[in-house]
Amino acid sequence: MMMDFDTIEIFKDKSSPLLVAGPCSAESEEQVMRVASLLAGSGVSLFRAGIWKPRTRPGCFEGVGKVGLPWLSRVRSELGMPVATEVATAEHVEQALAAGIDVLWVGARTTANPFAVQEIADALRGTAVPVMVKNPVNPDIELWIGAFERLYNAGITKLAAIHRGFSSYGEKCFRNAPQWQLPIELRRRLPSLPLLCDPSHIAGKRELIMSLSQQAMDLNFDGLMIEVHDNPMCALSDARQQITPNELVDISGKLVHRSLASDTVEFSSYRRQIDEIDKELMRLLSKRMEVSRGIGELKREMGMAVFQPYRYSESMERCSEYCADGCLDVEAVREIFEIIHSESIRQQLAIMNDREG
Ligand code: PEP
Ligand code: MN
Repeated sequence: MMMDFDTIEIFKDKSSPLLVAGPCSAESEEQVMRVASLLAGSGVSLFRAGIWKPRTRPGCFEGVGKVGLPWLSRVRSELGMPVATEVATAEHVEQALAAGIDVLWVGARTTANPFAVQEIADALRGTAVPVMVKNPVNPDIELWIGAFERLYNAGITKLAAIHRGFSSYGEKCFRNAPQWQLPIELRRRLPSLPLLCDPSHIAGKRELIMSLSQQAMDLNFDGLMIEVHDNPMCALSDARQQITPNELVDISGKLVHRSLASDTVEFSSYRRQIDEIDKELMRLLSKRMEVSRGIGELKREMGMAVFQPYRYSESMERCSEYCADGCLDVEAVREIFEIIHSESIRQQLAIMNDREG
């Protein structure tokens, strides 16, 4: 479905990248005011603080609840900073709207649940409040887009996306794997939707926030949502990934902004070469598929299975040979071969199942 998003005023005419910052959780009125005063005037466009915290396991700090809403109102009235909080139910929406919260966001666990997103969308009907939607915890782009559609269908047109990475099992460098191809694909599908990155929840530890933020800039994200606490080590939630207001200023000062300007003369000769090479690659791939279809015919005649594991293992083992000159990354080559092989299998299966043939 076509969606025509409206601009979120707070995001307009602000320094690039757009900065959303504040503590993971609002812990006390004093803590909220301390962090907010340290952030005021430092280029932060929107102050964030979680009031209702979706925790993976019970027994952790689950947020102060609605008593925290007036603290956020104080940030707006005394420091002039617009404020945002997470909502997960219709009741949260009603209470946040009644408190005059400027921007709402839907958390990753909530985006994964269409019933919850629909409940939020219905509760928002008739309002013009901007809503930011985090990616679902699982790397399902349709689910993420579905959440925008539910909100849009309820008349909420001031929307933005927040990429916060995807959960997985086992030892890992990131708390939530960035899988940048998903936000890149989201941008391709919904080009007018502002796209922010939340390096805090991707990283899970403060040391990685600078490099992830720069990566988001390199990929042309519109802004960042970063968790900031005046005393991160003592934070009641996400202590490992929060940074101090000074560290935020330091990071935002170091970020190199990238422009979208394209196709100057310097680029055009390279671009032409790339286009030629792509054409050649595709010509070779279709030649390869033609040979593969020939093999498919033979397999059918001889009653052989399409998938021959030893052959597949052989070609996968050969991947490292193609990387000997150091120009190609072995993991990337493996992924390319997986795609080529699965297309080959698909074409041979079509031959096997073509009863006319
Ligand atoms: C948060 O922003 O504090 C939060 C709970 O994030 P997520 O929904 O991305 O886990
Ligand atoms: Mn958090």
